[in-house]
Amino acid sequence: MMWDRFYRLNPGVQAYPWGARRHGDELPYIAQLLSRAPDDDQPYAELWVGAHPALPCTFSVAGREWKLNDAIAEFPEEILGSRLVDAGLRSLPLLLKILDCEAPLSIQAHPNRALARTLHQRHPDHYPDANHKPEVAIALTPFKALCRFRERAQIQGDLSRHAALSTLFSEQLDDVAEPRWLRRAYRRLFGADSTEIGNALKTLTDTLAASQSPSPEDRCFSDLARHYPGDRGALCAYFLNTVELAPGEAIFLAPDEPHAYLHGTIIECMANSNNVVRAGLTPKFMDVPVLLEMLTYEEGLPRIWRGGALPGGGRCFEVPVPDFAVELWEGDAGDEFSPASDGTVSLLLVLDGTASLRAPGQEPVSATRGSCWLWPGALADCRVAMQTEHVRVVRARPGT
Ligand SMILES: [Zn+2]
Repeated sequence: MMWDRFYRLNPGVQAYPWGARRHGDELPYIAQLLSRAPDDDQPYAELWVGAHPALPCTFSVAGREWKLNDAIAEFPEEILGSRLVDAGLRSLPLLLKILDCEAPLSIQAHPNRALARTLHQRHPDHYPDANHKPEVAIALTPFKALCRFRERAQIQGDLSRHAALSTLFSEQLDDVAEPRWLRRAYRRLFGADSTEIGNALKTLTDTLAASQSPSPEDRCFSDLARHYPGDRGALCAYFLNTVELAPGEAIFLAPDEPHAYLHGTIIECMANSNNVVRAGLTPKFMDVPVLLEMLTYEEGLPRIWRGGALPGGGRCFEVPVPDFAVELWEGDAGDEFSPASDGTVSLLLVLDGTASLRAPGQEPVSATRGSCWLWPGALADCRVAMQTEHVRVVRARPGT
């Protein structure tokens, strides 16, 4: 097989319960993207474009149906490219997703490589691979998330301000300068017995219902408590920063950083892993001791950035890990890109409009909205021509 062209991929959809659903005529983003007419009740949470064994893309070559992970295992040099194979890789290092959150996701963090290996060995049913999972989130709509710890003075201020919290955290209100204060306070949140937590949640919910001037953290707590009644994870609204991204803005989440996506639609790219350590706001498996132990307990807002400009238009989101980078090409009919290729694999996803993918010696292929493409490492010197107005194409590739 030559691997001398672009191959159209069939992506998978995850129907997690927090995903966006149909509301009357308004369809979930992922259903619109794929031109599907969804059932009323089916959530469209995540679109997976990649080769993770849990939900690999499929595609057909010369009448044979392939899973992308199997094709890479059989043709690593041709698909991944020699740079990655020389570096020892035999599987795709990244996973590209679209996420559409209608309800908040769990309080979570993703393990670093060493921890991922241990967790996968110990509980392969809960931790499906041995890889780390740093991730980047690029907003397509206004997007809200909890991310990293707030400054401890802010946390302590809120714990003191509400009677329900100052009772629950009575032993954590002093000594705020002590180096392990944040670790101790967060441990208390997850270690308090369920009666104490239940009382605090009820008192705080009642107080806020009567409040004339709730703070942004109060509003976030009330929202989480409404979605997950009785769940102590809602109190993370006082511990973690609420971050709001405008379309085009991005955050990078390093391993071991606490976060919870709350609302909105994003492009997400990550190392090729599905390892999530959860501690609240979910009916799924939770691993509180592991989460409390793994966190970095760094304070302060995450960096929000818009990527760097690419020659010819578009933005590039490079991250501090070699597993992946994301490019977002935007243009109108007549615009043309000659994307740099260092002979490594890329995945393409057309978000809007139609683009023509041109490879040497091949007929151009028309990449319409919602289509996903494998660009094998062996395929060099390609051009991408925009055929309609407002074309947007996402390219996920290994970092340089
Ligand atoms: Zn995450």
